[in-house]
Amino acid sequence: MIDFTIPDEIEKLKETTQKFIFDTVIPMEKDQRQDNHGPHDTLRKELNEKAKKIGLLSPSVGKKWGGLGLDMRGMSVIFEASGYSLLGPQAMNCSAPDEGNMHLLEIVANKDQKEEWLKPLAAAKIRSCFSMTEPSPGAGSDPSMLQTTAMRTKKGWIINGEKWFITGFNGAKLNIIMARTSEKIEKGTGATMFLVNNTDPAIIKLRTQNSMESSFVGGHCQIQFKDLKVSDDQVLGKVGLGYKYAQVRLAPARLTHCMRWLGAAQRAHDIAISYASKRYAFGKKIGNHGGLAFQLSDSEIDIYLSRLFIYNTAWLLDQGKEARNESSMSKVFCSEAAFRVVDKAMQTLGGMGVTDDTVVERLFREIRPFRIYDGPSEVHRWAIAKRLMKNMEGKNIF
Ligand SMILES: Cc1cc2nc3c(=O)[nH]c(=O)nc-3n(C[C@H](O)[C@H](O)[C@H](O)COP(=O)(O)OP(=O)(O)OC[C@H]3O[C@@H](n4cnc5c(N)ncnc54)[C@H](O)[C@@H]3O)c2cc1C
Repeated sequence: MIDFTIPDEIEKLKETTQKFIFDTVIPMEKDQRQDNHGPHDTLRKELNEKAKKIGLLSPSVGKKWGGLGLDMRGMSVIFEASGYSLLGPQAMNCSAPDEGNMHLLEIVANKDQKEEWLKPLAAAKIRSCFSMTEPSPGAGSDPSMLQTTAMRTKKGWIINGEKWFITGFNGAKLNIIMARTSEKIEKGTGATMFLVNNTDPAIIKLRTQNSMESSFVGGHCQIQFKDLKVSDDQVLGKVGLGYKYAQVRLAPARLTHCMRWLGAAQRAHDIAISYASKRYAFGKKIGNHGGLAFQLSDSEIDIYLSRLFIYNTAWLLDQGKEARNESSMSKVFCSEAAFRVVDKAMQTLGGMGVTDDTVVERLFREIRPFRIYDGPSEVHRWAIAKRLMKNMEGKNIF
């Protein structure tokens, strides 16, 4: 039987997180140190200091590295609470891409690499980015189309290629680069991950991409590697196992995105309920009109189901299961549900919904891209169906 009781220490941590978000983070949401490419590092650092003071920094990272060492179930509760403000995950150092990168380093990096990169990342002293996606005809939904190459030399490797949508690139110290190290990409082998100092002059920024959302520090960039020299010490894990490590990073990272965006959806829903229970039209509160009442109920159901998806998948991951199917289903459901909830909240608010009088308009822009990154909905649905077909092979059911 699955026990959904939240342990006392997590319940207490949730209360501390909620208080921090309400008393400290939300009042800073209109801070001027933000633009179309995200909050500035100075704002992030100030928030990190405040989170650190009350013991909320780096909840996902092991205690050995100065984090809180939460398991996935603990993260489910705390990340949702932090996601109630778009600045919350930045403040607590549990935002993408750093949170996923720290998870990857904790599992795959060697001792020296952890000292060099994980330690300062966990202390929020530096930031990182993850370079996988490439412009056409390179890797996108299909990662096996990887074009960036790392060629063997006597002293190490030379990397050449182009990437885009590299979140957090501006100002990041570490760049985790995925490159092809074999002619053939087969059965998840043929690519390797490299840990590279992002200030290397052979990493060239082509442009910062303008996107509809703006909650990630460092924006999203199109970049080029031009004869980038790296040594064997910079290989993460083993040569050729880059795709395997990408899975180590992506399955939990997908779920932590779901957790944070669930918190954001809850905020939009709360704002909608608050408005619907005060605003009158045609002689009664708008929330008492059937058409709108059903919308509020549907959002409540979407939020409840998202939480169940997250808790169950987190529980499986905590047991060491890969939970690929569950993480795909969670990603599809939670990303689409969060979008529905925010869309309905906007409708509930009438004209005010499209203005910046509330955070709902911003959340509408922030949540939409989640249906694309970390695997578009269609790709996950396709993967789920492929597994269904495979499991049915050799069976005949009437
Ligand atoms: C805000 C944001 C941040 C990102 N951050 C990063 C980052 O930090 N690092 C990084 O490496 N990448 C990042 N990405 C890239 C992201 O992972 C890719 O956009 C995503 O994997 C899709 O790849 P693509 O854009 O090349 O789409 P394409 O591969 O061109 O696919 C386009 C569309 O084709 C459809 N499609 C594809 N395959 C199938 C299929 N099998 N069945 C049905 N339909 C299909 C889908 O609708 C898909 O949306 C980010 C993207 C965004 C939007």
